Amino acid sequence: MRYISTRGQAPALSFEEVVLTGMASDGGLYVPETVPQLTPEELADMAGCSYAEIAFRVMKPYVGGEIDDDTFRAIVHEAYATFSHDAVVPLNQLDANHFLLELFHGPTLAFKDVALQLLGRLLDHFLKKRGERAVIMGATSGDTGSAAIEGCRHCDNLDIFILHPHNRVSEVQRRQMTTVLADNVFNIAIEGNFDDAQAMVKASFADQGFLNGTRLVAVNSINWARIMAQIVYYVASAVALGAPHRPVSFCVPSANFGNVFAGYMAHRMGLPVERFVIATNANDILHRTLTDNDFSKRDLVATLAPSMDIVVSSNFERLLFEAYERDGTAVAELLERFQHEPAALADAPLARLREKFASHSTDDATILEVIREAHHRTQEILDPHTATGYRAAERERGDAAVPMVTLATAHPAKFAEAVVKAGFPGVPLPPHMDDLLEREERYAVLPAALEAVQEYVAEHRR
Ligand SMILES: *Cc1c(COP(=O)(O)O)cnc(C)c1O
Repeated sequence: MRYISTRGQAPALSFEEVVLTGMASDGGLYVPETVPQLTPEELADMAGCSYAEIAFRVMKPYVGGEIDDDTFRAIVHEAYATFSHDAVVPLNQLDANHFLLELFHGPTLAFKDVALQLLGRLLDHFLKKRGERAVIMGATSGDTGSAAIEGCRHCDNLDIFILHPHNRVSEVQRRQMTTVLADNVFNIAIEGNFDDAQAMVKASFADQGFLNGTRLVAVNSINWARIMAQIVYYVASAVALGAPHRPVSFCVPSANFGNVFAGYMAHRMGLPVERFVIATNANDILHRTLTDNDFSKRDLVATLAPSMDIVVSSNFERLLFEAYERDGTAVAELLERFQHEPAALADAPLARLREKFASHSTDDATILEVIREAHHRTQEILDPHTATGYRAAERERGDAAVPMVTLATAHPAKFAEAVVKAGFPGVPLPPHMDDLLEREERYAVLPAALEAVQEYVAEHRR
């Protein structure tokens, strides 16, 4: 399997290279050159298989023989053994035909674990094979940092440095990062805001001289392996609900678009999907683009669903590449224009998107209302991200005979602030985490100065 850039100018890469690379040299994102197909028979054969076995079968063609089957199977089994539910991602039936796909049973209680438990192990495998070490740097305002740390804590060939804004992440989120005391895990609290932290990570990728040749790796959602890992739960849940014999619809709380793009890939591989509903919070670029063809940046709004607070949806570029029938030049032109001024999609690509995608945006007041309403109807306490999905699924339901699967992207205990605001006493952490607030923490506090951060990284990497 080869991977090509959405902007058409970067060299094609192998799977191993694409996992180690991140963004393409032309500023685009890597996608597979051809989409592997799952036949109806292959889908039907997955009924009753374990999640890890389905994961192996769905991802194998993307790996393209670059890891032998036994090794890849072992990596996949290990990655999903870290989840606390035997089904890994259980389906929870809410009413006659609406289901929650619970993606929050991993080590950090949000869906990013599904991808990062696998990515850490894949990186470690390829680095070991090459006899190389690498450094991961990332900035986080919440979910990604802890999921990346949990995904890398056991990796011999990786050191991970995660920057978070000092005193500006919730205590649960900070402790999910800082109580991991592994030798290769380094948390840095930056005396500044998230943008300061992000800017220092970006500058470090742009000029890697401070690492004297050691590879710097990104684990953000543009890494193809993260998308690949997320394709699996669309297939697994649809098969559990009767695929390939009957279609399903999915509703996905969205920000950078990595999650819902993975669903689209599952569909392109042959999974019958009636429609995808994109749920956004008040940061609604995806909703505006689909409904009004208003593809433009707006100021960031801080919401009760903070993991969906974005200005730009980076992975939307991957869908645009398909909507523009893989015309990298057209995609590059559109995104160049979008950087500087409000842009609009051409008619034909927009029409293609509207055939499969619907969208809905939910503001903070409505998120609280939805948490109360959903509890009243179903006894479930939704986290605020999932609440945007619940509302969007109801509003954009489509054919009521088709099962609707709303992706539950986080455990409500992780976002207790919104749950308390909605009038509930709070939600306890699950048993394997109930001592989180007593665990020992370790982190460095550094000024928002690039030299100080790079010096720290260069000194502490192993
Ligand atoms: C990251 C995240 C999202 C958004 O996912 P994308 O892949 O960026 O669209 C939604 N909900 C939660 C809880 C998240 O952590």
